Amino acid sequence: MIVLAEGVCGRIARMFGVGGFEKVISCAQIETTYDFLDEDFVEVFLGSWSPGFFAWAVPLGDDLGRVGLGVNPELSASHPADHLQNFLSNHPALNGRYKENVMSLTIGAIPIGLKGRSYADGVVAVGDAVAQVKPISGGGVYLGTLCGRIAAQTIAEAFENGDTSAKRLSSYERAWKKEIGRELKFGMKIHNWIFTMKDEKISEILKLLNDEKILNVVNTYGDIDSPLSLAKKLLKELDFNILRMIKFLI
Ligand SMILES: Cc1cc2nc3c(=O)[nH]c(=O)nc-3n(C[C@H](O)[C@H](O)[C@H](O)COP(=O)(O)OP(=O)(O)OC[C@H]3O[C@@H](n4cnc5c(N)ncnc54)[C@H](O)[C@@H]3O)c2cc1C
Repeated sequence: MIVLAEGVCGRIARMFGVGGFEKVISCAQIETTYDFLDEDFVEVFLGSWSPGFFAWAVPLGDDLGRVGLGVNPELSASHPADHLQNFLSNHPALNGRYKENVMSLTIGAIPIGLKGRSYADGVVAVGDAVAQVKPISGGGVYLGTLCGRIAAQTIAEAFENGDTSAKRLSSYERAWKKEIGRELKFGMKIHNWIFTMKDEKISEILKLLNDEKILNVVNTYGDIDSPLSLAKKLLKELDFNILRMIKFLI
């Protein structure tokens, strides 16, 4: 048995006809001193500063943070590090808060949306190798770990039955998709919608969301691991406002 956990590069996965992504987001991130507005909150910046994804500032404590962004290469030919430099130097909300004290720089990639299979004869693949990643946030640590456990159970059962064929291992993909498939599909729809939106439209939607009732529902039920449950709650409790929002979806 081979467990493929090689990350986004997917070189070995391709040899087995496994993997393939709908998109790959290019990222640049620095660790730096940064003047957070509130160290209990992550800052998220949408729009054309990071075409096709978003920019973030994550507090690490003691005025330190990870500041980075992702870019969809289909929407921008510039390197993500150039986008990051532009964001840090020119974004009006950062005015003076970034101190040009870079402690480390990470360049990486985030796979979004699995196109092919996550198994083959004697092979299962986990994590970024098969885009087990949240399409809205790009987070893959939790989902990769969850699917790793499912892979381990499938492999144990396959050994018990003495059958590691692709047909037998297909139960791995059914099991992880049963667990997270709907969230990934829904997340992909939101990803395709929100990260291709013009700046003016984003501003309009954020104005609409800046409503006490909506913010209460988001604060109570918002869960980065489950955008679908938040959407259901919003639809149930705030149908009028949501109807106003849906006109932007079409
Ligand atoms: C800038 C950035 C910030 C991120 N921030 C977050 C975050 O805050 N939260 C979150 O949940 N996710 C985050 N992610 C995503 C997260 O890093 C990945 O989803 C996660 O690391 C995937 O784990 P993995 O084990 O599948 O792959 P990886 O972490 O990429 O590990 C794969 C490993 O396999 C090794 N490897 C590859 N090929 C071979 C080979 N042939 N032989 C031996 N070894 C090999 C690689 O060197 C690597 O060490 C971020 C990603 C980026 C790019």
